[in-house]
Amino acid sequence: MKYSFVIPIYNEQENLPELVKRLGQIGDRLDGRAEFILVNDGSRDRSLEMMREIHQRDPRFVYLSFARNFGHQIAVTAGLSFAQGQAVTVMDGDLQDPPELVLEMIDRWQAGYHVVYAQRTKRHRENPLKQFYAYVFYRLLKRLADVDIPTDTGDFCLMDRQVVNVLNAMPERNRYLRGLRAWIGFRQTSVQFERAARFAGDRKYTFRKSFSLALNGLVSFSRVPLRLATYTGLIAALLSVIMAILVLYWRLAQTNSPVTGFAAILIAVFFLGAVQLVSIGILGEYIGRIYEEVKGRPLYIVAETAGLERQDAAQYADVSEP
Ligand code: UDP
Ligand code: MG
Repeated sequence: MKYSFVIPIYNEQENLPELVKRLGQIGDRLDGRAEFILVNDGSRDRSLEMMREIHQRDPRFVYLSFARNFGHQIAVTAGLSFAQGQAVTVMDGDLQDPPELVLEMIDRWQAGYHVVYAQRTKRHRENPLKQFYAYVFYRLLKRLADVDIPTDTGDFCLMDRQVVNVLNAMPERNRYLRGLRAWIGFRQTSVQFERAARFAGDRKYTFRKSFSLALNGLVSFSRVPLRLATYTGLIAALLSVIMAILVLYWRLAQTNSPVTGFAAILIAVFFLGAVQLVSIGILGEYIGRIYEEVKGRPLYIVAETAGLERQDAAQYADVSEP
């Protein structure tokens, strides 16, 4: 097997026929055997039935199906662990990542790069608010993260077998794949593209899912938020010394002090209370992730596969027929 494609699918029945058509055409133009791994992330529409038919018609398309929705990052993780190709491409199932760009990525791979990631220069017809969040988030992440995570890149990329092997060996549960990919290193390069609008259907990433992905990226790759609590604490301590001196001075030397009554006290109490709660919240984010990691539950549960070789079940539970 030379090329693998990993495509997470969550309620994409409107997109599957076009996706399969375009990928099939790409497959015909490749210089080696290719497999297209569709990962059904607990779709509630006809996606799974369609995958069964697609596999019957064209055995280059194989699939695995989760027992429920585990999320995009986990779906990609699963696909990667089943992929057998020497070059593995990860792309979305809604045709926002143009399959034709893969040919350009393959050129780079053949020129000796281990990771070729796609970088968006423009987004078409996306919610302006989302574009704004994304813009701010990627730049914040770049400043805070321990590794250099390139801005405006998603999961759309091509990875060499060596890199995929490293990713597969990583046990962590809170997977922020574009960060892990940058962390691994090797020779990486980018190709630029304009992100198309969805071919059909609505976004499957709700605001909540996007937010938790972003938070995951920050917390998994930076300890700066933890230090933030220390810094605010130090500043508050310094201010409190100054305030203590001032308050004493006013009380002793002046008859009418500028800070009197409840208002000043209330503001101070609320402000410090808020700072403390936020600090506890930040701690909680890290501790919650430690808890997730320690529980060691399987990352996902595979209910059905077709055309895939079974893997040793280290990361997941497989309840499909042997
Ligand atoms: N997806 C998934 N599980 C989810 C949400 C999304 O497998 O819980 C898939 C979805 O089917 C699509 C890809 O992840 O192939 C990207 O999702 P979407 O297009 O909604 O995200 P966006 O491109 O808007 O960031
Ligand atoms: Mg999309």
